[in-house]
Amino acid sequence: MSKRISVVVSQSPSKNPAKRKLEEDIVLGLLLEPGIDVTVVPNLYDIKPDSTGMLALQGMAGNMVVVAWLYERATHWILDRNGINGQVGKVFLTSEPAEEGEEQPVDEDDKLRVIETREIPDRKIYALDLRSANPPQAFIDEIKRIHSENVVQVVGLGDLTGGLTSTAVASTGETAMRADSVSATGESVPNRIEAEGGRRWYPVIDYSRCTNCMECVDFCLFGVYGVDRIDTILVEQPDNCRKGCPACSRVCPENAIMFPQHKTPAIAGSAESAASMKIDLSQLFGAPSDGKTAEQIAAIERDEQLILAGRDAVGGPTVLPKRHEVREVAATDKLDDLVDQLNDLDI
Ligand code: SF4
Ligand code: SF4
Repeated sequence: MSKRISVVVSQSPSKNPAKRKLEEDIVLGLLLEPGIDVTVVPNLYDIKPDSTGMLALQGMAGNMVVVAWLYERATHWILDRNGINGQVGKVFLTSEPAEEGEEQPVDEDDKLRVIETREIPDRKIYALDLRSANPPQAFIDEIKRIHSENVVQVVGLGDLTGGLTSTAVASTGETAMRADSVSATGESVPNRIEAEGGRRWYPVIDYSRCTNCMECVDFCLFGVYGVDRIDTILVEQPDNCRKGCPACSRVCPENAIMFPQHKTPAIAGSAESAASMKIDLSQLFGAPSDGKTAEQIAAIERDEQLILAGRDAVGGPTVLPKRHEVREVAATDKLDDLVDQLNDLDI
């Protein structure tokens, strides 16, 4: 057994040299740190569920730090959607630090959130946004702090195998990859996962906000949303989503839908959107309001995508009977039928 923590560095999709340099400086700064295993992956959001990269992430045991060009919330829920679940680890280097003495907004209603219906594994996932600081040392120090106060016992692959090369580990995607793998020349090297496929565009649901109201599944006419076997909303066909369109994020009453690569922070998952229920949504989402509501803007965006896809525009925010209303009507009908049958029995 060895005391280790996994650090995942998610690369920018843009290949911007300054961004690459920051990523590599962090990797270099961590390579010789004892107990820290570094894996470099392509942009986390773009990794396909069945790819080597996602299998590798799913195989990592214990606590994990993920450093990405994404808001912390987005990182957490992208991982969650791919079965990499855990508690949110507290970080002190954030993209939107709270003012001193200011608490994060707390929902004061008593709605049941999907997260409350789930069991969350007793592991921590720490998300760091690469936009929160520029000097790589700030990230290195924060990761070392997390490691030192939160060391977890995981089984290193080297302990099991007697030492595999990093290439072999990456190709199998097995448990607890070792960052301080040693190359043929004797140097420490991180594990690197190559990109498979290109850029993607799809919604990510924050289940700590989602109330399972089904507004999104009713609104989307491209078959992106579905439900699991216990009728909980999920993004079932992510790649059906229309590139660049964030329409359904505007109709979600809980602001639970993110598009992590959208240029507007509130849509991309910034903490700013936590307070959005109290302010003008159209301003927050950065769309030209022209007196329109967020729902009207969303309907226009949806129509644009329908036309681009060669289909007919449908207009207003609500065009279909809402799924939960259909279910309620169906349940009422069944009850009425039962009462009728009992009456017929004349007992
Ligand atoms: S509209 Fe929002 S709150 Fe409702 S089910 Fe969809 S993601 Fe959840
Ligand atoms: S952005 Fe449009 S296509 Fe994509 S999930 Fe939302 S409503 Fe559906």
